[in-house]
Amino acid sequence: MSTTLLDVRDLVKHYPVGGGLFGRRAETVHAVDGVSFGVDAGETLAIVGESGCGKSTVGKVVLGLAPPTAGRVSFGGTDYADIGAADMKRVRRRLQVVFQDPFSSMNPRMKVRDIVAEPLENFGVIDGRSAITDRVRDLLVRVGLPADALNRFPHEFSGGQRQRICIARALAPGADLIVCDEAVSALDVSVKAQIVNLLLDLQAEYGLALLFISHDIAVVEHMAHRVAVMYLGKIMEIGDRDVLFAQPAHPYTRALLSAVPVPDPAVRRGRAALAGDLPSPIDPPRGCRFHTRCPLAFDRCRVDEPALRAVGSGRLAACHLDQPADA
Ligand code: ADP
Ligand code: MG
Repeated sequence: MSTTLLDVRDLVKHYPVGGGLFGRRAETVHAVDGVSFGVDAGETLAIVGESGCGKSTVGKVVLGLAPPTAGRVSFGGTDYADIGAADMKRVRRRLQVVFQDPFSSMNPRMKVRDIVAEPLENFGVIDGRSAITDRVRDLLVRVGLPADALNRFPHEFSGGQRQRICIARALAPGADLIVCDEAVSALDVSVKAQIVNLLLDLQAEYGLALLFISHDIAVVEHMAHRVAVMYLGKIMEIGDRDVLFAQPAHPYTRALLSAVPVPDPAVRRGRAALAGDLPSPIDPPRGCRFHTRCPLAFDRCRVDEPALRAVGSGRLAACHLDQPADA
């Protein structure tokens, strides 16, 4: 039986902007507006969607880096709302992160040994300088770096190698789940494939769960077990990867997938591609948030917000199409 490691229920994250001096009107950014999902031990849930849909904000709240405006997050059965800093530290030992830009998350003046040793020391995983160095060396080799990487600085490595350093640091304290926020998005195609394969290997070896945040649909199709499609702070569709890619239920999912080149030109996934820009999350459209860009929108979509509901097995979608009007 699978066990839910991360559970996110009705998560809302609003950011107040403006107001105060100069009489600017106070407004609210609806970054995340009621999102629920679970991640089981050992599985990869991908969160996809255009830039600005709230993916990174979900990651931030899951990591405990920002408090939710409403809703609950729990990890390993521990609800963040019920715990103090000491317990949160215990959660964070098992819940690690790899960001897109490794430079933003490592001190350029620290040697690789110290960068990877930091979580081992912070979380008191092992004691003793030489024992820690031995562990760091093992981790570096495990992620495909030479052992002599220990005494070098981040700038001496390529982008892909720096992501390997970040992965080693995430593994160091014994992570059960790693939030990967656009972790491979900035890498060249061949390097990207290597890092993706490394993550898959590590997942198989350690039973790691991944919350894989990405706008890169091709990578998500390769990596994810399940996929959540976000649009303007909401999940439009969530389900098993194979079902979702073979038969996308939501017009937004179809539009996202149609933007991805497929190797066989005879296989055209696409119907309509996405037109127009993402509306402002300060004043999201009424009704279905996607209706302003949806080629299939009808009257009801402009006034009535569709709830997520089962569409066949293993999948939920929030769309009025093919739904009885009185449901
Ligand atoms: P994504 O990762 O999908 O690109 P984000 O979660 O980064 O989206 O952002 C969602 C929305 O929230 C965007 O409109 C962004 O500008 C806004 N946002 C994110 N962080 C903040 C913040 N600290 N203050 C105000 N607005 C924010
Ligand atoms: Mg982001």
